[in-house]
Amino acid sequence: MLKLNGVKLSHYKNSKDAQTVDIPLPPTVTIPLLQHMGVGCEPVVAVGDTVKAGQLIGDSEAAFSVPVHSSVAGTVTAIGKYVASSGKIETQITIEVAPEQETIECAPVEVTDQASLVAAARAAGLAGLGGAGFPTHIKLAYKDIDKVDTLVINGAECEPYITSDYREMLESPDDIIAGIELVQKCLGIANAYIGIEDNKPDAIKLLTEKASGKAGIKVSSLPSLYPQGAEKVLIYNCTGRIIEEGEIPADKGVIVMNITTVASLCRYVKTGMPLTHKRITIDGNYVKKPMNVRVPIGTAISYVLDWAGIHEELARKVLMGGPMMGMAVYDLNTPVIKNNNAILLFDEQKAVFPRTTACIRCGRCIDACPMNLMPTALEHAYDQGDVERLKALKVNLCINCGCCTYVCPAKRHLAQKNTLAKGLLRKK
Ligand code: SF4
Ligand code: SF4
Repeated sequence: MLKLNGVKLSHYKNSKDAQTVDIPLPPTVTIPLLQHMGVGCEPVVAVGDTVKAGQLIGDSEAAFSVPVHSSVAGTVTAIGKYVASSGKIETQITIEVAPEQETIECAPVEVTDQASLVAAARAAGLAGLGGAGFPTHIKLAYKDIDKVDTLVINGAECEPYITSDYREMLESPDDIIAGIELVQKCLGIANAYIGIEDNKPDAIKLLTEKASGKAGIKVSSLPSLYPQGAEKVLIYNCTGRIIEEGEIPADKGVIVMNITTVASLCRYVKTGMPLTHKRITIDGNYVKKPMNVRVPIGTAISYVLDWAGIHEELARKVLMGGPMMGMAVYDLNTPVIKNNNAILLFDEQKAVFPRTTACIRCGRCIDACPMNLMPTALEHAYDQGDVERLKALKVNLCINCGCCTYVCPAKRHLAQKNTLAKGLLRKK
């Protein structure tokens, strides 16, 4: 039986009432060709080409890949390599933004069955927009689709500070419901649950109203206990089904989609315009005026912060994503990509690295782990390089939620060690 552990966090949803605003176009965008889990794309444009907003600029024949589109009209000025936050060397395309913006010609897309839905999700350039970046079309292409009876929509947004999905729920509820109905119709899925943490009562109320009278769509109000939005936790809390090690949700009859992803799929089908922009929250204790902004993909973080009037020089730490699972940014020229949902800035006091001390065997990390793992034993196994023990302790079930690190009084880097341990297993 899955233990439903986790941690109570302060929510800091300071930007929840901040309506999304569009930032002005930057002078250039730099668009990475790997913005998803899987294989990066190859450029389909060359230096000197002019492109329109929405035009395909990168694609791949690999199944586990997602096409990339230009977020602006302009001229390709460079195609080069860079070191992604994953540490991999990837390709990116720089486009100088034209004074006059031209968009590709597009029209509504006819989607009637699984094949056309999968094609639409791919053509839209969709990869889990909540942060995971898993290619949406791969999820929807599950081969035994007749065995899937439930769609779970992730509106938990359980990380502190971030309100990007929350604003999606308040600003585009009709796109969410229409997107869910589209997926239900094309895949023959009877039931859909929209899982939302109970710290977002107005989103729960609005979506419950919108879902009323819609066949099989229910809103699940979930306890605000981090990591409520983790796939396995969310599935269990919405359906009672347990995803075992080595299984994917579809093996248990469930497909999970992020709430902004399903709304974006609906918008693509309505317009034929692929994903070019992303809503992100700007917050953190260094930020005086938290906000939500819609940003052309490929815009440098430094441009977004300049526009927001934030002088980042005195910030001690900048994160892309939440404080629990976000990545620290080492270069503010890093571009915003599809699965970014926040830029958070913290001052010296919040960004301090506490000193690590010896484990006192208090067991708090075990109590906190939503996957029922033993983080302290995993750390020991990794330090010993004991691959068999790491396997026996099921390190691959770790979702890197950070709960163990958060609760540890000895400030041990438990979640980080698990990331390294999984890498060690992949090498063997
Ligand atoms: S990071 Fe991994 S080991 Fe630590 S609490 Fe989360 S799932 Fe458990
Ligand atoms: S929470 Fe920290 S100190 Fe306590 S058992 Fe786990 S690793 Fe040791």
